[in-house]
Amino acid sequence: MERYILTLDQGTTSSRALLVSAKGEVVGKAQKEFEQYFPKQGWVEHDADEIWTSQKEVMLQVLKENAVSPSAIAAIGITNQRETTIAWNRETGKPLGNAIVWQDKRTAKICDQLRKNGHAEYIRSTTGLIVDAYFSASKMTWILQNYPEAEQLMQQGNLCMGTVDSWLIWNLTEGEAFVTDASNASRTMLFDIHQMKWDQTLLELFGVSASALPEVKSSVDSFGTAKVGNVTIPITGVAGDQQAALFGQGCLQKGMVKNTYGTGCFMLMNTGNQAGNSAHGLISTIAWSMNGEVTYALEGSVFIAGAAIQWLRDGLRVIDEAPDSEYFAEQADNEEPVYVVPAFVGLGAPHWDMYARGAIFGLTRDTGKPEIVRATLESMAFQTRDVLDAMASDAAIPIHSLRVDGGASANNFLMQFQADVIQTNVNRPSNVESTALGAAFLAGIGVGMWTTADVGKFRSTDKIFQPRRTSAEIDRLYKGWKKAVNRTLGWLENEEE
Ligand code: ADP
Repeated sequence: MERYILTLDQGTTSSRALLVSAKGEVVGKAQKEFEQYFPKQGWVEHDADEIWTSQKEVMLQVLKENAVSPSAIAAIGITNQRETTIAWNRETGKPLGNAIVWQDKRTAKICDQLRKNGHAEYIRSTTGLIVDAYFSASKMTWILQNYPEAEQLMQQGNLCMGTVDSWLIWNLTEGEAFVTDASNASRTMLFDIHQMKWDQTLLELFGVSASALPEVKSSVDSFGTAKVGNVTIPITGVAGDQQAALFGQGCLQKGMVKNTYGTGCFMLMNTGNQAGNSAHGLISTIAWSMNGEVTYALEGSVFIAGAAIQWLRDGLRVIDEAPDSEYFAEQADNEEPVYVVPAFVGLGAPHWDMYARGAIFGLTRDTGKPEIVRATLESMAFQTRDVLDAMASDAAIPIHSLRVDGGASANNFLMQFQADVIQTNVNRPSNVESTALGAAFLAGIGVGMWTTADVGKFRSTDKIFQPRRTSAEIDRLYKGWKKAVNRTLGWLENEEE
């Protein structure tokens, strides 16, 4: 009987399930979008039950549609939107409220206070992270302060707080396992990435008791057994979505870089067994851990990338579908550069400004839909350049090729412009499902289906985009971008003054 790995890819906008064959190919997919809640300015929530039910639904659907019996699944791999935080009751399994999503900025003031009180350096050296509402810790503090029963449940040892991987595994194992993997733990701002344990000082600082947090496992490990119908399937690979993509892209050696163009843009560089130390606004994170060895990455997180294309589609309604952006961008007039700075939820790396907000610059009477669409696409490439420059400086090595993936990497206009803006080759694989493949590879390694050496061999290139425009031309354009970004910084703070 043919054996498969089942990947559960729980993303920010949809839950997906993918079947991966023993040859490392995606042979079946199912996907379901779910509701985004924006209850207040800067707040972003998901319904935790809907995260689970949509994930379960696509898991069963992909098996059914491909006529694969659960008993043919050798293992389950999980990859997930990171930092998003869910609290639930250990006894009833019921969530205490909606999941607080990584993009949510409600805890910006808690983070300001931490910085004012001089905690930033300890947090950076321990967790590798920059103090920001993005990470889970301040979201947990908010939960404890705002959900009436949270504090009491925690005192009784009946509170579970975790990232989405923990929530899915809890449900898949029917409450038997409360676990996470090191890559997800490294996004909470509570985990010591050097000692590989929850940090007591930080737990106290954020008011979180260790009993409320999951056990941290390696990325290839025994996470429990999922109950699917009458069958039990081992869960053997777990990693946060961006780390899984780094693995799936075969960036297994130190210095290799990938960039994912999804809701946000996330660039990661494998830094080997050493955690990097950024002087340019990047964070250090755990890429994965297996066989007692930890691999680290430097990361630049851009909050709004493909989401800006969703804004063109759903907010401005100037395009019907995301891929239409390519057609309109090609129609744009080249004369006057227009810049869209999509700082809708502040700016992440390398600026880290929670109070920046979006703007459009360079409008003239001739500016129309094509110019706005093009400038929106270009903003992804410019933001990527900001991060790539920071990464090259931190790592003190030039980057010769950028491996790309994610929904928007299908856009040829964007990929060509990207190559131009960074004056570096952009390499798009045949299969842009790097995230799902990465989780499948981790799980497959866990059941002995593959070795790490196999993973590098599975990748094949679809297209290499080479820079076509001159560096002088690009320098001029990029200067304009920097000017535009500078004018969006601190927007909300200025308003309060
Ligand atoms: P996520 O995993 O973050 O949900 P995906 O990798 O599935 O994201 O990519 C979806 C994102 O990519 C959406 O924000 C969408 O607007 C954008 N997108 C998808 N296709 C294109 C395209 N051809 N051109 C530009 N953007 C695109």
